[in-house]
Amino acid sequence: MSINVCESSPDSLLSVPVKVSRQHKPGNTTVDISGVEIGATEIVIIAGPCAVESNEQLTETARAVKSAGAKILRGGAFKPRTSPYSFQGLGEEGLKMLSAIRAETGLPVVTEVMDTRQVKIVAKYADMLQVGSRNMQNYPLLKEVGMQNKPVLLKRGMMATIEEFLLAAEYVLNQGNENVILCERGIRTFENSTRNTLDLSAIPMLKRHTHLPVIVDPSHGTGHRWMVPAMAKAALAAGADGLIMEVHYKPDEALCDGYQSLGLKDFEDLMSELRKIALATDRELK
Ligand code: PEP
Ligand code: MN
Repeated sequence: MSINVCESSPDSLLSVPVKVSRQHKPGNTTVDISGVEIGATEIVIIAGPCAVESNEQLTETARAVKSAGAKILRGGAFKPRTSPYSFQGLGEEGLKMLSAIRAETGLPVVTEVMDTRQVKIVAKYADMLQVGSRNMQNYPLLKEVGMQNKPVLLKRGMMATIEEFLLAAEYVLNQGNENVILCERGIRTFENSTRNTLDLSAIPMLKRHTHLPVIVDPSHGTGHRWMVPAMAKAALAAGADGLIMEVHYKPDEALCDGYQSLGLKDFEDLMSELRKIALATDRELK
């Protein structure tokens, strides 16, 4: 099976019916994350800290995002940090904290797996496995998560084309795991006023070419707390099935990505705004 990567018209992307394509499956796929459906009429909000830092931080944040309407909790235990001297995450201790707060709140948890050697342990605790931007083309990792019985949240590589993104998802589907959610999280461009350039055109483009659910990360997509609400609303207006956002009970004290994390009140206010967008686009957000 070959794919014409040189094709200049985006309309002929994936002209062979690979498993991620709409030619292969015309209807939308919905992915079930321990009882929470992504890809159906209801918009799903995933929220939580960039990294799990402590029981207090995770508990306070999780309770607040739940009461504001988030349906899934995020939090990294294994963190891909630019500097090896930055906080690297709590590892298995963090996974245990996620598991404990899931038991209390009932929120399914998504957390990143960075390495094939971590897949088993992360899959033991998480409801959904996150493959981060830096690993989108880590083919052994994609195959390994494809062999697990857990949904996969695949984030777009920061320099990946739509076609590369879809073919990365194809690796997971090829192993028999069809529960893949795609996440646009911004790409590298010449623009440096934002951390990344959030490519909202990826939403309709992905929706056109694939049956998989598409969500957006306006936190990493902008790198600015103040910009997250505008881009979150725009993402829903453009047809995203959900959002993943960084929220912290004390953003200014966060060990990771505090500058792009919403505080608890900001998140609650944003949820009310998002409900209006959902309504206006014939979606639901409870
Ligand atoms: C994250 O979600 O915590 C993260 C590291 O995101 P990305 O892989 O998109 O940079
Ligand atoms: Mn982060």
